[in-house]
Amino acid sequence: MPFVPQRVFFEAESLDYPIAQKILDALKSNPRVSINMLKSKQRIKTMPGASWEEAYQAGKRTLVVGIRKTLNFQSCKPSAHYQLPLVTGCMGQCEYCYLNTQFGKNPYIRVYVNLEEILSQTASYIEQRKPDTTIFEGAATSDPVPVEPYTGSLAETVQFFARQEHGKFRFVTKYTDVDSLLNLNHQGKTTIRFSINADHIIRNYEHFTPGLPKRLLAAGKVAAAGYPLGFIIGPVILFDDWEAEYKRMFEALRDTLSSRKSDGISFEIISHRFTARAKNTIMNVYPSTTLPMDESQRKYKYGQFGYGKYVYQPEQIEGITSYFRQAIEEFFPGANVDYII
Ligand code: SF4
Repeated sequence: MPFVPQRVFFEAESLDYPIAQKILDALKSNPRVSINMLKSKQRIKTMPGASWEEAYQAGKRTLVVGIRKTLNFQSCKPSAHYQLPLVTGCMGQCEYCYLNTQFGKNPYIRVYVNLEEILSQTASYIEQRKPDTTIFEGAATSDPVPVEPYTGSLAETVQFFARQEHGKFRFVTKYTDVDSLLNLNHQGKTTIRFSINADHIIRNYEHFTPGLPKRLLAAGKVAAAGYPLGFIIGPVILFDDWEAEYKRMFEALRDTLSSRKSDGISFEIISHRFTARAKNTIMNVYPSTTLPMDESQRKYKYGQFGYGKYVYQPEQIEGITSYFRQAIEEFFPGANVDYII
């Protein structure tokens, strides 16, 4: 599922970098892509008078090619020490996505072309924490895979980490453009995780993403290439027949990974939750969503930063926890369950 933007904006000076030139070469002869050059400090114009839905749709088809100016990496607890900023945004349109709340009406996909500087900053963070290992997350505010055929940034980053004694890299994706990563000398320093779900959730809520069979095919290739491998299953939603559907998902996953030992595979399970702010954004972008967001059915859990979340009731969480523990034990004995929340 290659990402073909409708509009591309090159920020001033970005074309001094080879990645930007590569993107321009790949898209300039496509008559359906509008190419725009921004002057210094010029902002991307949103669609005048556009509704939230229209602006969101247009943003999701817009690629911004820019230079990462702030090189202070954000922390990324608890799964990593720092976010590694290669890309922000995502072409996918998952109704529940946390990026919907973060980017609101402006969900552009932005790629950063000063990769050398970003990786050199990464090396300084690693140096500061030596001899401890520093872990970097490449998908904290994006799905970085759909733009990889244009940028090659993940491939460069994987090779960079192969040379780091004290650094590790990880990212998660729902996409399948992984072929350029398969023959790299990764030295086991990069963990690739796939976000998967029951077919019912993918079909109803994860628009413009590949279906489960394609994701599993990509995961099988990554497994065969010897990368440390993980799966995020989420959001787990308690729809009718959820147990049978998740079982089918696990069966398909087991068939895909039959030649790989389970003890090197990790699972993260995330039950569905939402904040009042997220619900408000989702209702604006997807007015007829069927995501279960009835507050009266949920337990309100106070959050660390003053805003709480609506999570499933404790007995439902217990049901999810015991279901997934048993299923993983049955299908992937010895696999690591990092957490079930
Ligand atoms: S693929 Fe991931 S990052 Fe992209 S919209 Fe869906 S949940 Fe969000």
